Amino acid sequence: MNYIKIESSSLSNGLGWRVILWCAGCENRCEGCHNKETWDEKAGKPFDEETMELLLSLMDNQFIEGLTLTGGDPLYPSNRETIAKIAEKVKERFPEKNIWLYTGYDFEDVKDLEVMKYVDVCVDGRFIERLRDVSLAFRGSSNQRIIDVQNSKDTVKVLDLD
Ligand code: SF4
Repeated sequence: MNYIKIESSSLSNGLGWRVILWCAGCENRCEGCHNKETWDEKAGKPFDEETMELLLSLMDNQFIEGLTLTGGDPLYPSNRETIAKIAEKVKERFPEKNIWLYTGYDFEDVKDLEVMKYVDVCVDGRFIERLRDVSLAFRGSSNQRIIDVQNSKDTVKVLDLD
């Protein structure tokens, strides 16, 4: 998997101060996407062992509440194996911190992926320009949902953070 960048601390893309991993690769091609440079799976640089250590060291900070996986799409097919390993390692090292994952896929289509064992919150669905709403918390269009993953095994539990 390639990644575009890692932000060491951000208040966007999830609740509280977070480390943000921007993955390369997206096949959703949403009209009005602001991150087109992330569509190419070969954009950025490879996420290797050194990058994993960097990510863990950035997480190892008291004021950091969690990790956000975004892109691009962390669930772009060739990213799935690596993203699951990243999420597993982060949860293993920091069980008290949460993981948010942004994806253009609908939750129902990706809920059984390995990575979802470790994800606390999933913001799902393509960005749809005609449903764009700047007043929404943590998402761009009203079709997108903020999902409590660990409590959505049978019925999808949507969080209301607006
Ligand atoms: S899923 Fe995100 S990165 Fe991919 S095209 Fe849609 S808005 Fe852009």
